[in-house]
Amino acid sequence: IKRIGVLTSGGDAPGMNAAVRSVVRAAINEGISVSGIRDGFLGMHQDRIIDLDRAGVNDIITRGGTFLGTARFTAFKEESVRREAIENLKKRNIDALVLIGGDGTYTGALRLHEMGVRCIGIPATIDNDVHGTGFSIGFDTAVNNIMQNMDRLRDTSSSHHRVTIMEVMGRHCGDLAVVGGIAGGADYIIAPEEPFVKEDLFSKIAQAFASGKRHALICLCENIVNADALASELEATTGIECRATVLGHIQRGGSPTAYDRVLASRLGDYAVRLLIDGVYGKCVGIDGTTLIATDFEEAINNPKHSHVNEYISLSNKISL
Ligand code: ATP
Repeated sequence: IKRIGVLTSGGDAPGMNAAVRSVVRAAINEGISVSGIRDGFLGMHQDRIIDLDRAGVNDIITRGGTFLGTARFTAFKEESVRREAIENLKKRNIDALVLIGGDGTYTGALRLHEMGVRCIGIPATIDNDVHGTGFSIGFDTAVNNIMQNMDRLRDTSSSHHRVTIMEVMGRHCGDLAVVGGIAGGADYIIAPEEPFVKEDLFSKIAQAFASGKRHALICLCENIVNADALASELEATTGIECRATVLGHIQRGGSPTAYDRVLASRLGDYAVRLLIDGVYGKCVGIDGTTLIATDFEEAINNPKHSHVNEYISLSNKISL
């Protein structure tokens, strides 16, 4: 392999830059050149490709988001579009790709792999919803963002003796809600892995306030119930003032944590090593502290291994 192309795709995640930096420097150490493909598969199709050298990735380890840019480009599902994109790689002598993103990115990578492009995927999404890794890049930073914002909400919630509902991301995965909720000391966590019974929440809140509790924090995963509607219903049912805050894209930004930077650096280097060893068509990940590689097909077709239920039973013991 003489030249690797690297791209970031799907939702941005803090630590993507650290992963690009690691890929570039690990490759250059082995005498391999690197091209940066801007804006994911869209940039690959539109030939937005730049040369990256060691200095080209200076000072990006601290930055959230992705300096290469990212895009959602549904036209990449069409074979003819992918064929045109592959022509751009050939023109620039790019003979392998490292693709940093979530399971949509892995699906695009699998299609390219089936068309003969050497591909390795690196998991980066704050939702932590991909199979083949215990943690995806960006998750730890987002959890810290959730925790810090929950700490702020605690100040105002406790001052006004309110119930505060904080909605977090995760799409259909409860990891951000449960891990962020435990870190922020939430009194009640609502995650998609457990059925949500409104009456259980209302009666626990009512009981806790009746026995002297002065405020409560609820951590809610998105796409379960409308946060404002839940706040109104809780207030109407229990008579306790309740407010909702939707954290939104705030939780996705900011400088990556040490954990995410180190994970991204390890996975970037591992991706390059696999390509050098002639291993393609896989995504890398971490199992405990060990680096692992999983076939794209297996990663895409299997649900992510979830610890959410264990976390929820922990939360049940130490909260309301
Ligand atoms: P996140 O989990 O943060 O949303 P993701 O990688 O899952 O990240 P998607 O938008 O689902 O994000 O996918 C990224 C890109 O991968 C898409 O915009 C598209 O270009 C490509 N892609 C997704 N599915 C396919 C597919 N079936 N065939 C080809 N390309 C695909």
